[in-house]
Amino acid sequence: MGRSSKDKRDIYYRLAKEDGWRARSAFKLMQIDEQFQLLQGVSKVVDLCAAPGSWSQYLSRQLRTEESSSKGKIVAVDLQAMAPIEGVIQLQGDITKESTANEIVSHFSGEKADLVVCDGAPDVTGLHDVDEYIQAQLVLAALNITTHVLKEGGAFVCKVFRGKDVTLLYSQLKVFFTEVVVAKPRSSRNSSIEAFVVCQNYKQPEGYVPNMSNPLLDHKYDEDFNQLEGPNRVIVPFIACGDLSAYDSDKTYPLQMEGKEYTYHDPVQPPINPPYKDACDRKKGKLGETDSSKTEHKDLPQP
Ligand code: SAM
Repeated sequence: MGRSSKDKRDIYYRLAKEDGWRARSAFKLMQIDEQFQLLQGVSKVVDLCAAPGSWSQYLSRQLRTEESSSKGKIVAVDLQAMAPIEGVIQLQGDITKESTANEIVSHFSGEKADLVVCDGAPDVTGLHDVDEYIQAQLVLAALNITTHVLKEGGAFVCKVFRGKDVTLLYSQLKVFFTEVVVAKPRSSRNSSIEAFVVCQNYKQPEGYVPNMSNPLLDHKYDEDFNQLEGPNRVIVPFIACGDLSAYDSDKTYPLQMEGKEYTYHDPVQPPINPPYKDACDRKKGKLGETDSSKTEHKDLPQP
């Protein structure tokens, strides 16, 4: 397979490299923003699970105009190290940990964020129930952090997996936001259960005290929950973002398009120190053998 084959199969991967985005995910935030005008009047944003940083790049490009750059603040957090982005404060940490939440809050001394975004995804195991569970944990961790830093009336956008238990998550979000919508940007493949909750108009429930030690998913996902109907069950509206003129992320496109000469581009920012690097190095024989490294690594992910 040539190095251009992924460019053919994944139009957004290719466009991301051509437009200088570190990841194709930039188009997801862009299409959600175009639909919901998320960034109108916004200057302070928290970007959770931000590496390699295409959402932060988008936020920085949109918010750091000449007249607003002094007021703006973008705080980005990830488990992985991120290469610097102009105007973005970067923290390395786990968003499910209280210490990370405290560190984020410390950057907002006395101020609150207008918007919190989270594109967090665990390393998927392929076991759908486990993956959905861990993803939902991340959403609730992001929501917990949000309750500490978001201003009244602010917005929260977060990746979710639309599994069978997602209705419970929607109900939990409805406790904090008057409007909750599920968005599916055109750059997110139809074949993927990924979608984004767009929660607007944050309103802290009376008597609620933000607390990172809140249990995450200690609630029991009751089989009967999905049988509920009417007002007993929250059905949130679903909106597809990006009109039909946008590229279809499930389609393969020819390299030569619309009379434009095709040129191969390297990825904009390779991962700095990805978890699979050690395994790749061992495979290439760069590191000494240990007992665990004697196992053959057949399906190592490519950087
Ligand atoms: N929005 C990013 C961009 O545009 O470049 C892409 C995010 S990527 C799909 C998902 C990220 O979630 C990974 O970088 C991963 O390290 C991060 N992540 C997963 N679990 C996390 C956790 N508990 N705390 C912080 N980051 C986490």
